[in-house]
Amino acid sequence: VVKDLVDVTAHGEIEIDAKCRTNKPGVFACGDVTTVPFKQINIAMGEGSKAGLAAFEYLMMNS
Ligand SMILES: Cc1cc2nc3c(=O)[nH]c(=O)nc-3n(C[C@H](O)[C@H](O)[C@H](O)COP(=O)(O)OP(=O)(O)OC[C@H]3O[C@@H](n4cnc5c(N)ncnc54)[C@H](O)[C@@H]3O)c2cc1C
Repeated sequence: VVKDLVDVTAHGEIEIDAKCRTNKPGVFACGDVTTVPFKQINIAMGEGSKAGLAAFEYLMMNS
């Protein structure tokens, strides 16, 4: 659904950096849909927390 919005790999995973940022400013992704290694519940939970904090940081810096 987001392949025309953000960069995805040949496997369809959303490409993110260490702060769960996609290539599009203000758009974050986390969990199994991303390039994060190890598709496990606790990894997805941590990535979700990280994406939330990164989104908060983005809004603080850009509003
Ligand atoms: C059979 C099986 C067994 C597993 N066993 C384990 C295990 O024992 N331990 C472990 O740690 N991990 C296990 N996993 C992996 C674990 O389930 C995942 O890593 C974890 O659920 C990823 O969480 P997520 O939130 O990233 O994605 P998901 O849990 O997949 O959540 C994504 C959500 O997005 C929804 N969605 C999809 N498309 C759309 C759309 N277009 N619009 C709106 N909503 C949408 C889906 O319905 C789903 O609710 C298992 C996975 C499978 C398939």
